Amino acid sequence: MATSSADYRLSFPHMGNYHIPMCTLSSMLDCEIMVAPKMTRRTLELGVRHSPEFVCIPFKYNLGNFIETLDAGANLLVQAGGGCRFGFYAEVQEEILRSLGYEFDMIRLVGDFDLRKYYQDLRRINPKLSFRGALHHYRLAARQTRALDAVEDFMRKRSGFEAEPGSFDAVHERFLRELGPTPSIAEAAALEERTLAELAALPVEMPVDALRVGVVGELYVLMEPFSNFFVERELAKRGVEVHRFVTVSDMLSHAGPKGSAHLRELIEDAGPYLKYHVGAHGTESVAMTRRLMQAGFDGVLHLKPFGCMPEVNAMAALQRLSRDNTFPVLFFSYDGQTSETGVRTRLEAFCDMLRMRKRAGVSAATNMEVPA
Ligand code: SF4
Repeated sequence: MATSSADYRLSFPHMGNYHIPMCTLSSMLDCEIMVAPKMTRRTLELGVRHSPEFVCIPFKYNLGNFIETLDAGANLLVQAGGGCRFGFYAEVQEEILRSLGYEFDMIRLVGDFDLRKYYQDLRRINPKLSFRGALHHYRLAARQTRALDAVEDFMRKRSGFEAEPGSFDAVHERFLRELGPTPSIAEAAALEERTLAELAALPVEMPVDALRVGVVGELYVLMEPFSNFFVERELAKRGVEVHRFVTVSDMLSHAGPKGSAHLRELIEDAGPYLKYHVGAHGTESVAMTRRLMQAGFDGVLHLKPFGCMPEVNAMAALQRLSRDNTFPVLFFSYDGQTSETGVRTRLEAFCDMLRMRKRAGVSAATNMEVPA
């Protein structure tokens, strides 16, 4: 077992490109940081093989990440936890990994990320860590997260219309390379500003009938593109402006005491379709779908892991909302057996249907012909 921070090799599960700010945050522990190998089919296969069959798919991906990184030499794992089954991920995964014979230490960050709450646990790994030092890493990581979310939001909205193939990806890749080493909040902010200006200057060809689609649902399958078969990229390839609201920055901005006011607002925005909070991001899925419908969007994609209770609850409300208003909502449910080809085919058909509706001048909210 490690006796000083230098003996630790820390790792954590993947979720989109958030490993970049996560490395900044983890560097407060003054140990080696091992980013888990890139997600592949093998990651999922490992997770599925060693997980309870009916657990939701983020658990399986996370477990697959842990196994791959432990095999590569990690000996300190970090896992977060939230209000639903997510709250038990760390405990159950630790048990499974130990039963497989792995030896490691684990930091469990359950609930809202509150430095004061976790400080002693972090000092167990790095006894020299001061609260001030921890706060600096946290603030920098949070600012890098905001920059990442702002740039990727822009990419979702515009990259589908790029005039030169690959031009948006080139700027995005450079941004990702430069984000991790930003040493200060001011430099992370400046990088964000510079990158957004570069992206805005890229030539685009925007058709007059461009589709606007929102993507809502469970946070992991929304934010980890490998787990949703890159649906946002697939939409963009079909000339769709993609809007997504669930991001880590958004979650941080509603964490803590501000959370209940935010929930009340969401329930209000869900209108007649929800009276109570349905757990995790389920309420947000309904509220955002209704807001997008009222804002004249062409349709919504709802993504959820198979068996995810908060999103199963949201689905009933979303189906009613869709039926009452003839508003297109496409549901995707992911598990270890989900076929990528099936997802692509349904996505393609959905985009064709939205385009036909738009050309026929059908209004989502009224199902009436809209005068040109
Ligand atoms: S939100 Fe759904 S998928 Fe995510 S951990 Fe909770 S139950 Fe599982």
